[in-house]
Amino acid sequence: PAKQRLLVVANRLPPCNSFEGVKEFDARWIGWAGVNVPDDVGQRALTKALAEKRCIPVFLDEEIVHQYYNGYCNNILWPLFHYLSLPQEDRLATTRSFQSQFDAYKKANQMFAAVVNQHYEEGDVVWCHDYHLMFLPKCLKEYNSEMKVGWFLHTPFPSSEIHRTLPSRSELLRSVIAADLVGFHTYDYARHFVSACTRILGLEGTPEGVEDQGKLTRVAAFPIGIDSERFVRAIDLPPVQEHMKELKQRFAGRKVMLGVDRLDMIKGIPQKILAFEKFLEENPQWRDKVVLLQIAVPTRTDVPEYQKLTSQVHEIVGRINGRFGTLTAVPIHHLDRSLDFHALCALYAVTDVALVTSLRDGMNLVSYEFVACQASKKDVALVTSLRDGMNLVSYEFVACQASKKGVLILSEFAGAAQSLGAGAILVNPWNITDVAASIKYALDMPADEREKRHQHNFKHVTTHTSQEWAATFVSELNDTIVEAQLRT
Ligand code: UDP
Repeated sequence: PAKQRLLVVANRLPPCNSFEGVKEFDARWIGWAGVNVPDDVGQRALTKALAEKRCIPVFLDEEIVHQYYNGYCNNILWPLFHYLSLPQEDRLATTRSFQSQFDAYKKANQMFAAVVNQHYEEGDVVWCHDYHLMFLPKCLKEYNSEMKVGWFLHTPFPSSEIHRTLPSRSELLRSVIAADLVGFHTYDYARHFVSACTRILGLEGTPEGVEDQGKLTRVAAFPIGIDSERFVRAIDLPPVQEHMKELKQRFAGRKVMLGVDRLDMIKGIPQKILAFEKFLEENPQWRDKVVLLQIAVPTRTDVPEYQKLTSQVHEIVGRINGRFGTLTAVPIHHLDRSLDFHALCALYAVTDVALVTSLRDGMNLVSYEFVACQASKKDVALVTSLRDGMNLVSYEFVACQASKKGVLILSEFAGAAQSLGAGAILVNPWNITDVAASIKYALDMPADEREKRHQHNFKHVTTHTSQEWAATFVSELNDTIVEAQLRT
């Protein structure tokens, strides 16, 4: 049968790895190309070049981008959805510019809608993504009420008590529920959204979703995943093996702890480093036997808040390295840059303990990628040999392999805590005493417990993939529409 046509709409082109999973659809991507192209000739050229990648650009001018993207999306919705409070001064400035930014947000969303409408064919599924496009479902339904529209949020959706403070609270909720299906990473976020609709809009919340005068908007949880095979396979590639060898030599005799985050307030990087300091303070025997590698990918580097965070982290790292470093080694290696895919996989693979301390995080895919990379090809051999009923040698092999499985320390405020909670050590990142104790527990963990925890996580990560996520969302959207037709 012909593949189903799918229009994926997200703020930014090209789509990120999460969309790897839509291979089984006849998919097209619609989004802002990330550059300002003011003239017609340039716009036509870019449109043509992107068409080869099945991408369709939305052109936004600089002023709109400033007000819609930097303003409403990143200064208002992002902090609010992650329960971040702005400094008082910034809060007042935001309050003053709120209306013009919200107007730009709506205008930008209408521009996305116009492009979607232009490319829409009957029967298409239109899948809108993230907090940038909350106004989009309503715009699309105004073009064509028959359009199948789904919306998925990649961040947390906060408690209705938080959403209530947003001046545009009702208009945003109303636009989102114009969609046929509304999806979140976790059940908690979905519940917060339904509560916001009942308390703020006065609608009826049901186990299925939200009802407005007999019209149901289905609301459900669709936890995202990764293309786990891509990571498992990568570990055997020669360049990755080469990186791993270098890393093992470089850190021989020391346990490797790893943090991989965008340098964002939500990631709790200062909290993580302070907890590591506390661990070193309390456990002198570990001081020259462990190293923390923190990859901090720069983000929004033009924003003062983020610049402040960078220097704050640098200061703490410098202090701790000064305090616990020796002439030949320092306890923390902090990198202000991103790594390529192979280097990242190698790092995940050689890590003994991964530390995710997000203060709030929609899902956190780094934790999934770490788990995937902890599986080596040898584990497959291990399973086979056990089935064959081998002798003691295989048990020695088990113990030897098992000791290599890394441990995941994971913030309970990351969406991933809902799915990897049983395999990871869950922590409250605000409680650095608790995190320091968890670091010790993880480093001392016996091989069999590491193995058991890993298997638990690995099973989840390899069965809840990005492919499965996309397929489930689209099929639920199709079902929702069939059910709605049956009801009328
Ligand atoms: N990542 C990357 N290069 C790096 C470090 C990280 O491409 O040097 C990727 C990583 O593989 C992961 C993503 O960045 O897929 C981070 O996703 P996550 O959900 O953990 O957090 P987000 O940045 O979306 O808040």
